[in-house]
Amino acid sequence: MIGVYGTNAGLENHPDSSPGILHTPPKPRVTELMIKAGANALGIPCVPARYAVLTKPIDDPHAPRQACFYATPCGRGCAIGAAFQSTTSLLPMAMGTGKARIVTNAMVSRIVTGADGKATGVEYVGKDGTRHFVKARAVVLAASACESARLLLNSRDGGLANSSGQVGKNLMDTTGTNVTGHIPALENRPRYNEDGAEMAHLYIPWWLYKEQAAGKLDFPRGYHYEIVGRFGQPGAGLGLGGNEDGYGASLKEDARRYYGAQLGFTVRGEMIPNSNSYCELDPQMKDKFGIPVLRFHWKWSDHETRQIAHGMQTAKDMIERLGGKVVGPLLPPEQAIAVGGWIIHEVGTTRMGASAADSVTDSFGRTWDVDNLVVADGGVFTTNAHKNPTLTIMALAWRNMDRLADRMRKGEV
Ligand code: SF4
Repeated sequence: MIGVYGTNAGLENHPDSSPGILHTPPKPRVTELMIKAGANALGIPCVPARYAVLTKPIDDPHAPRQACFYATPCGRGCAIGAAFQSTTSLLPMAMGTGKARIVTNAMVSRIVTGADGKATGVEYVGKDGTRHFVKARAVVLAASACESARLLLNSRDGGLANSSGQVGKNLMDTTGTNVTGHIPALENRPRYNEDGAEMAHLYIPWWLYKEQAAGKLDFPRGYHYEIVGRFGQPGAGLGLGGNEDGYGASLKEDARRYYGAQLGFTVRGEMIPNSNSYCELDPQMKDKFGIPVLRFHWKWSDHETRQIAHGMQTAKDMIERLGGKVVGPLLPPEQAIAVGGWIIHEVGTTRMGASAADSVTDSFGRTWDVDNLVVADGGVFTTNAHKNPTLTIMALAWRNMDRLADRMRKGEV
């Protein structure tokens, strides 16, 4: 249904798909092949990336989608539906059932509960500022981790579904930093179109499971590298690395020489929840609808900064293996690590668990305190694995909705 390109690489923690499921990945770029050579020489795998981008069309009756034509920035939305996104995939499919209604320009302000403690629906503020109520047999929260926590905290004094006190706690993001290298062997290479899909065609998955199990690393869990390197719009993304000099003809000559000679390694790693990273209602500030907003507290622990230090050093090793040099200084990891929230992978604020004492939901996203209230976003994560969270959120949401539908059919909800 999603359409993912990639290959079955047979690697640990990198599940293979059934035959015929994965779409053929695009051909690697020259820069990616170089990185693969450098990585492999150091015993590091580099395999076709998995991205939710079609390389053959999908003929869904409600959401027909075309194969990628490699020319446009996916992050701004894919008009032909090649990149999987709700506006061209899930929403048209849902509307196709005839059972979905979308209310736009509406801001949900709270979940309403009845005398028996169950959810009866939600209240929202419309475009004109008026309040409306939608009655529901069950309420599913999928507003993204922080907004779902905010809704729970705004729904009752002390927070709805918050007997554990965990709503808003355990907030996590993905760790991140970038290391860029200049590779002389890539200078003055012939020009051609290297656009491809917006994201990488190859990537470097986490590989040090055995070393970690043997206690050889000074941080838990792992990270992967998203790799960058191509002819792109000059000045957007990778540049000339500060190598250019002078003005006029010599500046133009330098630009031609250095353009396309840089590689980038983007570290994305796992964060372990800690008690210093959480969100709560701001006691004063409200949004334009009069709804209290969140305020955030954040601290990376040594787990994350040591992981980033390892990722930076290994990227440097790969760049030097290719005869290149790191562009700019390698900052201390405490400065190089992206600030919390920057990678926009917020999860954990309504975590699932085995006990109502220390978690907000059960393992199917049902809140312990409100039987017909289910969380279907990244709030239920207990840790933030280094793999980007969206597709795990989808898989869990699907599973949780199957359970909710089953309970509704049995008359339990
Ligand atoms: S490059 Fe991205 S936006 Fe353009 S067609 Fe392919 S998936 Fe869609």
